[in-house]
Amino acid sequence: MKTIEGAPTQAAIGDGWVDSGRTFDVRSPFSGKVLASVVDCGEKEARLAADAAVAAFGGWKRTTAYERSAVLRKWFELIMARQDQLARLMALEMGKPVAEARGEVRYAAAFVELYAEEAKRVSGETFPSQFANKRLFAIKQPVGPVYAVTPWNFPAAMVTRKAAPALAAGCTMIVKPAEQSPLTAIALAALWREAGGPPAALQVLPCADPVPVSRILIDDDRIRKVTFTGSTEVGIKLYGQVSHTVKRLSLELGGHAPFLVFEDADLDLAVREVVAAKYRNAGQTCVCANRIYVHHRIADQFVERLGAAAAALVVGDPLDEQVQIGPLVDRDVFGKVEAHVTDAVAKGARLVTGGKALGGTLYAPTVLAGVGSGMRLMSEETFGPVAPVRTFRDEAEAIGEANATQFGLAAYLWTNDLSRAVRVSESLDYGIIGVNDGVPSAPQAPFGGVKHSGLGREGGHWGIDEYLDVKYLSVRIQSS
Ligand code: NAD
Repeated sequence: MKTIEGAPTQAAIGDGWVDSGRTFDVRSPFSGKVLASVVDCGEKEARLAADAAVAAFGGWKRTTAYERSAVLRKWFELIMARQDQLARLMALEMGKPVAEARGEVRYAAAFVELYAEEAKRVSGETFPSQFANKRLFAIKQPVGPVYAVTPWNFPAAMVTRKAAPALAAGCTMIVKPAEQSPLTAIALAALWREAGGPPAALQVLPCADPVPVSRILIDDDRIRKVTFTGSTEVGIKLYGQVSHTVKRLSLELGGHAPFLVFEDADLDLAVREVVAAKYRNAGQTCVCANRIYVHHRIADQFVERLGAAAAALVVGDPLDEQVQIGPLVDRDVFGKVEAHVTDAVAKGARLVTGGKALGGTLYAPTVLAGVGSGMRLMSEETFGPVAPVRTFRDEAEAIGEANATQFGLAAYLWTNDLSRAVRVSESLDYGIIGVNDGVPSAPQAPFGGVKHSGLGREGGHWGIDEYLDVKYLSVRIQSS
């Protein structure tokens, strides 16, 4: 079997590693070189995987929670043991700096560890009847085989955040990873098998074109849930498609996070956390601060410090341990970043630092001041290392601007005033609020958005409920 950094290049279907007779190239976004020719799945492979997922569900759902927990625990340990290899793989296939990629592997593994524990905590309810001879119960059961579609920006964590709760609940899952970064998902499936998991309980179908595979699996009535992380545009399409078979659906979609800095904020801390929230993964995360609103009295100081911090970030080869900003994943993402900066500067924004290409798809960490509401980057997700700063005069204006978007994933606010922190948090139409915290994500917390940012929650006990149906039992008994 061909492998790269321990990852097979074939599809994980049924009990085997499968060739389709076709391949597609995965390239390093840094060097442009072909890393691997990966098996390209289509309709035939999707049908095979659906049959295998349905067959495996029959056995997996009957295992005890303790048995499932033990396999998940072993999977967690193997992921942790291979963290360097997985981090290198991510750095190679999608350009995440290797030091940051190691952090993602630990974050990804933490979902597996958590759901190894949560498997044992799925419990039902008993509730009273109005009749003396009836007993009423609600039990929870796995929804069935699941189809998962994941993005390239977190090639490990977006797989485990879905697969771990699904497998813990007793579901089986077919993952279709993004075409830019399929190798990490395949490597995770290989570790699942090594951990003793039934191979067909977690299958991975790499493909160059997501549409044919998705069509087969979405139209298959036996697949009872779709879970998707990616852009709002694609999420809306899938929302329509799943309606024909009335599947359960979770959507983790785009964000456009506002970051509010009030006049009483600790400025050094706020700058440090904007850097963490904005520039990690070169700005390619759904919870990245996308619009920074600073109280007008502290704006100049803030911009100066943020500019210095951004300019000090090390940009370059993602395999270099010192590098903090790697390449953008492809020319499309790079093109949008350039277009957003060009548009903002043409409309009067001041370039504080950055604003230039550094070769290939490397883009300099950028800070823009004097940003106006009519600029593209204030209404669209940039998905790059660009921090636009705009000023506000009071709390009401800040909240109004922050909420003036169709997105509602993450928002951040900086203040030392407790009442304001609570008041503003309650007024922001977002699923996740970081109060003096630029990196709020945690496996045990509910992650997800409102409005066009999605449906459902991943993480914590909320995450496993997405893979469970509630069944009501009314039991008539003989009165003694
Ligand atoms: P994308 O929507 O283009 O692709 C995501 C996945 O969907 C990929 O696997 C892709 O192959 C697949 N896909 C694309 N078109 C499809 C179709 N017609 N049918 C079925 N599948 C299809 O998004 P992307 O560019 O890979 O990822 C970036 C987006 O993901 C950003 O908008 C980001 O905010 C979002 N995201 C959200 C979260 C979250 O948890 N809310 C996390 C990470 C990324």
